[in-house]
Amino acid sequence: MELDKMDENDWKYHGEGNKSLVVSHLQHCRVLRLLKFPSEDSAHTRQTAEQAFRHILNIVDYSKYVMKPLLEEKYVHSGEVVKLPLDFVRQLSLKVQQERPELRCDKVMDTFSGCGLCLPNLTQLPLHHLRDHRPPICVEIKPKCGFLPFSRHITKECKRKVCRFCMHQHYKLANGKWKRLSRYCPLDLFSGSKQRMFVALKNLLEEPQNNLKIFKGGELIFSCKDDAKQQPELNDLIQHLRPYFSHINGLYNGHQPGKAVLNEFIQVICSALLSGGDSNRSGEPRKVHLSESRPHCEASPFPRDLLRNGNHGLPKDSVLAKILQVQMLDNLDIEGIYPLYKRVEQYLEEFPKERNRLQIDGPYNESFMDMVKNCPAEDDGSVEYAVGKVYQYRVAMTAKDCSVMITFAPDEEDEEQQLNLEKPRFTYSISILDLDPKPYEGIPHQYKLDTKIVNYYLRSTQAPP
Ligand code: ATP
Ligand code: MG
Ligand code: MG
Repeated sequence: MELDKMDENDWKYHGEGNKSLVVSHLQHCRVLRLLKFPSEDSAHTRQTAEQAFRHILNIVDYSKYVMKPLLEEKYVHSGEVVKLPLDFVRQLSLKVQQERPELRCDKVMDTFSGCGLCLPNLTQLPLHHLRDHRPPICVEIKPKCGFLPFSRHITKECKRKVCRFCMHQHYKLANGKWKRLSRYCPLDLFSGSKQRMFVALKNLLEEPQNNLKIFKGGELIFSCKDDAKQQPELNDLIQHLRPYFSHINGLYNGHQPGKAVLNEFIQVICSALLSGGDSNRSGEPRKVHLSESRPHCEASPFPRDLLRNGNHGLPKDSVLAKILQVQMLDNLDIEGIYPLYKRVEQYLEEFPKERNRLQIDGPYNESFMDMVKNCPAEDDGSVEYAVGKVYQYRVAMTAKDCSVMITFAPDEEDEEQQLNLEKPRFTYSISILDLDPKPYEGIPHQYKLDTKIVNYYLRSTQAPP
């Protein structure tokens, strides 16, 4: 990619989140991730080009030096900061505007700094031959927090029984963020039990919100509808998936083949999530039980009497085990972290110059990582302990907000042998994306939000008749 010869016609809108907008290259397996700002930001509150460059460099460093070593090399692609011609960025912004979903248009793409992040396009498989009529399918899951907090600092008992995602659903519904409750429960997905994972994925398909997207050949084919009242089109998805599971037509003889296609599809996702990360490994993986606390959420729709069945625990190398392990660095809960944050704040008030030494706002390099790893085990009253715990919390927050991408394509060898009767085999690759640092300043907001979500949940579900 020649940065001085960038042409907006080589790129197209790919997707966006709350913080960034992504465009993909029409020929190469590359994407550009550009920052977004609230549209009401005036010129003087906006970041300067230098600040924007530093911001993106922080994102790359954080991914490279902090998240990658914690999550495992093979899952993480940190990308590189690129300096783009301003004219290109402006043209691009105009080009993508009409493609953007309405619910994301409260923010505008950064067209001032010319800085962006260049990453591999993870919805594609680089070695996949284009001659196949079945392009790669990519499933993107934002799994959210997969455990129940176990900290002794927790003041509301319900936090030990109902997971954050399930509680947050009620609050989001009340605030108009979504029109229907999602029945997805992260604890089911992270359970390692095939049955529970199946139910979790099925519920994601029924109500994807911003937790599930599906791409085919790099094109988004399934996600939440812009109009929040509309149901996602499961029938369209089934039509897309049919050619990948052609053995089913022979098997089911027209009896609910659509449902069978979805079931097979969910099983393929499940197996990939339970594997060691790519299709070239085999053998029975070792299981881990990361959590001593209650592994089941009381708000999950999974039938209680079936909980004892099946093989529980995630394989140690699986992508979900890696993510869960990092999420669990949050072992004090926001209720235990907030007082430590205040300790750091008080210290910084007294010694403002220490802000740099403690790397509160980066750089996120190896010495930052040392503070994450070498935090004292017990609270000795020191600022080092407080800083270390606050950093562990921030790292955990990133792992609670990341996405997993599973990209798979039918096995090439398999295709010739296939008599349309055997179960298809897939080549796949798994990555973790969206590993941005969560700001230190966000902690007071997180504390307030936690209280609001819990109080709202208690009021809405335990109201006297
Ligand atoms: P969030 O609101 O979840 O924090 P964000 O603003 O931080 O999102 P990302 O999640 O990084 O942004 O990117 C937005 C979307 O763009 C993703 O959900 C994904 O569909 C797509 N995307 C991001 N990076 C890549 C990539 N490397 N390859 C393919 N698609 C990508
Ligand atoms: Mg995201
Ligand atoms: Mg993000």
